Amino acid sequence: MESYTGKSIFQKVAVGRIFYYEKNENLVKRNRIEETEGEIKRFEAAKLVALGQLDRIYQKALKEVGEDNAAVFEVHKMMMEDEDYLESIHSMVREQKVNAEYAVAMTGDNFAKMFSQMDDEYMKARAADVKDISERLVSVLLGNGTDMGALKEPVILVADDLAPSETVQLDKSKILAFVTRYGSSNSHTAILARTMNIPAVIGVDISKEWNGKMAAVDGYTGTVYIEPDFDCMERMKNRIAEDEKKRQLMQELKGKETVTKAGRKIHLYANIGNVADTVSALQNDAEGIGLFRSEFLYLEAKDFPSEEEQFQAYKTVAESMGGKKVIIRTLDIGADKQVDYFNLDKEDNPAMGYRAIRICLSQPEIFRAQLRAILRASSFGNISIMFPMIISVKEVREAKRILEEVKEELKEKEVPYQDVETGIMIETPAAVFESGELAKEVDFFSIGTNDLTQYTLAIDRQNPKLDHIYDPHHPAVLKAIKMVVDNAHEHGAWVGICGELGADLTLTKTFVEMGLDELSVSPSFVLPVRNEICNL
Ligand code: PEP
Ligand code: MG
Repeated sequence: MESYTGKSIFQKVAVGRIFYYEKNENLVKRNRIEETEGEIKRFEAAKLVALGQLDRIYQKALKEVGEDNAAVFEVHKMMMEDEDYLESIHSMVREQKVNAEYAVAMTGDNFAKMFSQMDDEYMKARAADVKDISERLVSVLLGNGTDMGALKEPVILVADDLAPSETVQLDKSKILAFVTRYGSSNSHTAILARTMNIPAVIGVDISKEWNGKMAAVDGYTGTVYIEPDFDCMERMKNRIAEDEKKRQLMQELKGKETVTKAGRKIHLYANIGNVADTVSALQNDAEGIGLFRSEFLYLEAKDFPSEEEQFQAYKTVAESMGGKKVIIRTLDIGADKQVDYFNLDKEDNPAMGYRAIRICLSQPEIFRAQLRAILRASSFGNISIMFPMIISVKEVREAKRILEEVKEELKEKEVPYQDVETGIMIETPAAVFESGELAKEVDFFSIGTNDLTQYTLAIDRQNPKLDHIYDPHHPAVLKAIKMVVDNAHEHGAWVGICGELGADLTLTKTFVEMGLDELSVSPSFVLPVRNEICNL
């Protein structure tokens, strides 16, 4: 047995087989090929493998996200069999005597360029699809084709790092734990592990040799055991049994009010990233959804999700929560949450760059489609809207102006919607200092302590080297929270926390004393936080 340590980001234990995930670098070189017919046969075989992958992904998407959302993979299959596309690859191999990878990559680039120059918006959007299918084919040809959708049994996922766009593609029911070499405890992948309620250890000296081996991940100590011995397995089993006992005890808090002994009621909500997370919010008896990270709908998709797709997602969540509050945060894309089809430029400082509300206000057509979808869904439950990354009153007024225009538009078309509460996230020092003015503009604040810590301490939340000094307990962060609470209350707004700090049980008492009205936490933390509050 060998053991390796790292930093734990979720306290739980898992035992299982390792799946080593390697990123596809897909470095394509141009090689001269004499036997061109053999090369074409090699390409045709790769095409069959890729079509099989697409078929599996389509079937999975059909079950999980419905026919409309799955349709894109049918489109990919059709594109992969398109005569012009195939003819271009074949003739490049035959006439230029080049390897299949090179012919596919060149054809993909040429077709993508051609599509992106078209006037028709639908055709323009196909550029990302043709790039996607070409990359899939190149991966198969290079033997890099890690088909994450095809995991057969639950595994411990070991990887150098995982981007949010990769994590969202995983079949959650097949992941027992994450172990990564890089990553930070405040990254969105870490947040996702907490939402998924699975152990995760980062900063581990991982090895490709581990692939297929049995392992145990101890999220309490941040230790990964490779080929654990009998004693280790016994310890792990005991830990799992203890966790189960604790979980059972917590179940007794279900249906209870979240109220201190002195009678102070705190609204205890859950954070979710997609429709499926609503199930665990309900299972853990969340009193509402305090943060629906709507950008994950965009990260899961291959192209801009349509208004209709978004409407269905928001409506399902609103209906499932049965009249409980559902706060939908408008698109917070950018920084570490990147999607190809947005075609965002590479930036030196993406965390301080073109992201979130800044994108929405400068590309109002994207923003309007989302607002229309949210407002339409508001007729099916108790929805509120929240704008992220706000730095000024001007931004809030502009966002509200667009919201009013969208309401007018719906009214004219006689599309029903309900009155929605509007709020903003307090994630920047500017919003903290302006909180008195900002509170006059909105119904509520939700403090995003993940970003607020990053911007207050000037520490990139993604940088693993700075993880040890990224300290949300820093007095500056706590003073900022207090200032926001006081300013909100003075001007009639209610205020909560939806950053990860909201689930920090060592601070629950402090938050109640500060006067916070709401805490929104990963679903698995709802009952532990209720337990803490009820015992205050
Ligand atoms: C935050 O910044 O605290 C927050 C809740 O938003 P996110 O983690 O998605 O940036
Ligand atoms: Mg944030």
